[in-house]
Amino acid sequence: MLLTIPKFLRSAGVACLDLLYPPHCAICLTATPSGEHLCLGCRKSAPVISALCCHTCSAPFSGQIDGPFSCPNCRERRFHFTCAVARYQSRDAVRELVHRFKYNGKVHLRNVLVDWLEETLDDPRLQTPPCDRIVPVPLHSTRERERGFNQARILAEGLARRSGIPLADCMKRIRYTTTQTIFDREERMENLRDAFRMRKNSDMHDLHLLLIDDVLTTGSTVDECARILIEAGAASVRVATVARA
Ligand SMILES: [Zn+2]
Ligand SMILES: [Zn+2]
Repeated sequence: MLLTIPKFLRSAGVACLDLLYPPHCAICLTATPSGEHLCLGCRKSAPVISALCCHTCSAPFSGQIDGPFSCPNCRERRFHFTCAVARYQSRDAVRELVHRFKYNGKVHLRNVLVDWLEETLDDPRLQTPPCDRIVPVPLHSTRERERGFNQARILAEGLARRSGIPLADCMKRIRYTTTQTIFDREERMENLRDAFRMRKNSDMHDLHLLLIDDVLTTGSTVDECARILIEAGAASVRVATVARA
């Protein structure tokens, strides 16, 4: 809708809004430049995951180590995705903004989240081979109606726009699953069984896919999506999220 408004009118509109509602940091409320929802201080305090992390799931590692490192969880488990990359830990300002975006409908915060998501593209694990398509983790249509949007698709669209990598909204969530967090691993897998399928006429053959979700927690959801995508012929699936638990 916004795109159909001439640019000068849009700028004038933004200037009026800035007067009525002075732009401020979503976390500490200090004044920010127009269009910014996080001040420099809060941006700098976001908990970054150093390069010293699990090669597969990006779990932070606090010690001395040389070369690629695998966390205990990834050593005993085989995922269908090659790696899951996140630049931030899901706590403090990062956790707060993701929460407001996802559960309180503060969709305007997406730009900050896409900034954080976009930083994953600097990671060597996502550069070779190059990603051919960006795929959002699907949300069940009932859940999407309740929430009003699919947070993963909004983030994936933002990343696709900035990176030039085409978006492929090629999956559907066909089972309305209950929340995953209370289950152990086997219960989670059972809960996800037949939850996803490919959309008709989507051809992902021989493509390197980048699967997008907001936060990586146990990895079970993205792993199940990766399983379906590989089964549909994808050459590989890597995962990028705004943050990881
Ligand atoms: Zn701030
Ligand atoms: Zn790991």
